[in-house]
Formats: sequence, C-alpha cells, structure tokens
Amino acid sequence: MSNSIITSIPPYIGRFAPSPTGDLPFGSLVTTLGSYLQAKKKQGKWYVRIDDIDTTREVPGAASRILKTLDHYGLHWDGKIIYQSQRHDIYCDILTQLKQYHGCYYCSCTRQRINTIGGYYDAHCRNLGLSCSAAALRIIQSKPVYDFYDQLQGDYVAPCSLAEEDFIIVRKDNLFAYNLVVVIDDHDQGITEVVRGADLIAPTVRQISLYRYLAFPQPDYVYLPLVLNRSHNKLSKQNHTRRCQ
Ligand code: GLU
Ligand code: ZN
Repeated sequence: MSNSIITSIPPYIGRFAPSPTGDLPFGSLVTTLGSYLQAKKKQGKWYVRIDDIDTTREVPGAASRILKTLDHYGLHWDGKIIYQSQRHDIYCDILTQLKQYHGCYYCSCTRQRINTIGGYYDAHCRNLGLSCSAAALRIIQSKPVYDFYDQLQGDYVAPCSLAEEDFIIVRKDNLFAYNLVVVIDDHDQGITEVVRGADLIAPTVRQISLYRYLAFPQPDYVYLPLVLNRSHNKLSKQNHTRRCQ
C-alpha cells in the first residue's frame, strides 16, 4: 500500500457576471476573455450570470445582446444561466438570518450628509432602532477585512474607511446591493475563483467580510488590468466606447 496522501483538489469554477446596462464594451470583452481562458486553462467550468438586480439601470434587450456577443466570439458558457432578478427569495432568506443575528440596521441618512463628512458612513444610525420605511439597510461591520491576496497583483490593502464602513446591503429603494448579492450568488454557484476587472478591486474586502460573516468559503481573486483609452479612461458603457459586434 502506498504511503502517499491523496488530496483532492476541488474543481475550478469561474464565472462572468455582466450587468445588462448596455451592450458589452470592448474593455469588458477583454476581461471576459481573461476569465474564460483562466477557466479553460484550469480545465474547469465557466458560468455566466446576468446581474440584473438593479432594474433602474437595466437596458431592455441588453442581456440577450450580451449573450449573443459571447456566443459570437466563441465564449461558450457551461450550464444554465442564472438571473439575479429570479433570486429574490434566496436573498430574502439570507437577509432574515442577518437580521436574526442583529447583523444589520436601518439608516435614513442622505448621500449629501455622508458626503459632508468625507464620503464614508459614520454609523450614525447604528443604535437608533429605525424602522424600514424609506431607509437603507446597513451591515454592522464588526470584523473589517483590510487586505486580501490578488493572484495577479499580490497583496491589496484597501483604504481603512472603506473596510470599516457599515456598508449598504439593501438600498433605500429596496433593491439588494451588489456586495450582498455577489457573495450569495458566487457561493451558491460554487465559484472557486473570481476573475474580473481591476475597477472592482476595492469593495472585495467588504465581500470577504460577508463571506466570513455568513461562514461561506472564500473564493480566490484575479483582478485584470483595464483597457484604457488615450485619456486613461476606462472603455466602458458609460463613456460610449466602441461596442463589440
Ligand atoms: N455585474 C458587475 C458589473 O458588470 C460585475 C460583477 C462581478 O464581476 O462581480 O460591473
Ligand atoms: Zn444613518
């Protein structure tokens, strides 16, 4: 009998999670390609999820045009596509748990007030016991995460105020916030590594704090450099760069 210890490496699962706020800009296509190739290199699965939780920013038809673009460039995904808009019940269940553990509170502060105190929230409403009408729900950030390891760029240290902020998990308009749903979805899909554009690096520390809070295993992270134009602006939907296809 051999004495060697056989350790099984969990299968690689990556993903691409576009928001259907417009057609896929060239910069996002490059990031998508990076994420796709990484999954192929690791002989893993590559899922596509449509981040359509923010209905206020959704452009009709954009989700299907993004999928067509992926298909056009041969970026074929595995399994079924998940739509955040169909996952409200799942998000509500997690929210109920967070509320039961007194992990969050309602906040009625305006963006204007927060801007006047420097842009980061000061936990003003933490002990006020406000109810939900026209208020955002914030996490009690009792265990901030200040840094993490990016597989490409190495150690990343976030600004302290960002790491320590009681960030929003449900917005005033009652929409679930990105940082909450991205953690729930990536966990439910069994994502082992998140590959995305470097513009999303800073809030990762918030997401890692949620992974710990919810006792979910944390994925690895790879932040890809962005494609910039000559003025050093990101090629994004917002600055109307050339679309793909
Ligand atoms: N849906 C987000 C976006 O398109 C990206 C989410 C993610 O990769 O975590 O900006
Ligand atoms: Zn407040």
